[in-house]
Amino acid sequence: MKWSWKIGTFAGIDVYLHTTFFLLIGWIAISYWIAQNSIAAVVSGVGFILALFGSVVLHEYGHALTARKYGVKTRDITLYPIGGVASLERIPDEPRQEFWVALAGPAVNVVIAAVLFIWLSITSAMEPLSSISLTGGSFIERLMVTNLILVGFNLIPAFPMDGGRILRSLLAMRMEYTSATSVAASIGQGFAFLFGFIGLFTNPFLLFIAFFVWIGAANESRMVQMKSALSGIPVSRAMLTHYQAIGPEEPLSNAVEHILSGSQQDFPVVEDGKVVGVLTKGNIFRGLKQYGDGAKVAQVMEKDFVIADSHEMLETAFAHLQDCGCHTLPVLHQNQLVGLVTMDNIGEFIRIQSTLKTAA
Ligand code: ZN
Repeated sequence: MKWSWKIGTFAGIDVYLHTTFFLLIGWIAISYWIAQNSIAAVVSGVGFILALFGSVVLHEYGHALTARKYGVKTRDITLYPIGGVASLERIPDEPRQEFWVALAGPAVNVVIAAVLFIWLSITSAMEPLSSISLTGGSFIERLMVTNLILVGFNLIPAFPMDGGRILRSLLAMRMEYTSATSVAASIGQGFAFLFGFIGLFTNPFLLFIAFFVWIGAANESRMVQMKSALSGIPVSRAMLTHYQAIGPEEPLSNAVEHILSGSQQDFPVVEDGKVVGVLTKGNIFRGLKQYGDGAKVAQVMEKDFVIADSHEMLETAFAHLQDCGCHTLPVLHQNQLVGLVTMDNIGEFIRIQSTLKTAA
């Protein structure tokens, strides 16, 4: 089952709501009901959360539209109870571009807060800040304050927060990208440790954030190390050359036999020496369920697929694998199938390289 619900497409980007988001709404509604026992309180409480998440969506659009300016597409925007994520297809190569993309999100919240501030000033509805709390006080003023809190939170210089990316891009203007990332990741983990420590004595929620930041930092630095380990190495050095191909007219039962007799997940579909599709494990199972094992491969295979060239750099093939969210790319040379490249086998390649490096 898919855990995200599409709520719409704006500026060509699909916006999804993660199912756990409804848990948050439910939790807010119930806690308002328990505290104040009135429908009006529940409506205003839930309304506030929705307005807050509206600000988060605009924040994500800040990233996505700035990235678009630099030619980087955004796959989608998903809202989780802890915030939003704009899945950019890649991180811009230029540190200066990454800087602006990361900064654009918090900048949107500054603009929202400023607009609300102007509105409050014009209508002279500003209340003293001390009368504002998470649940009480003027709706607009609360929204302004929480937007400013979002800015502060996002600017914490730790991955996966925007502040971490801003820090890395600033470092990367002065040093090599991999070192910039590992310095930024260490600073982030230092912050995570600090949060965790303070959280132990104060708010358990901080412990949760600490955990999230720690993992984010580790992931980011692993990804970048992976990218640098792959640059300058052609696909042909790491591709699988022992593999099974299948014909479009073959029945699915043949594919099932291949799956059972080997460890291959996806099969290139070849007709007259040309790759015409990719048959994934997912295709096979869906096909078996829908049509039975007599169905032809051509009926269920992916006809839209991404390929790699054997002379291309592994780094590029890796980026393609990530972009398409697929597991296997057929590798061609002069239009002939010469191998397969998969995430697993890139992972193996890196492990071997690093073992050789430490052995040397
Ligand atoms: Zn952001």
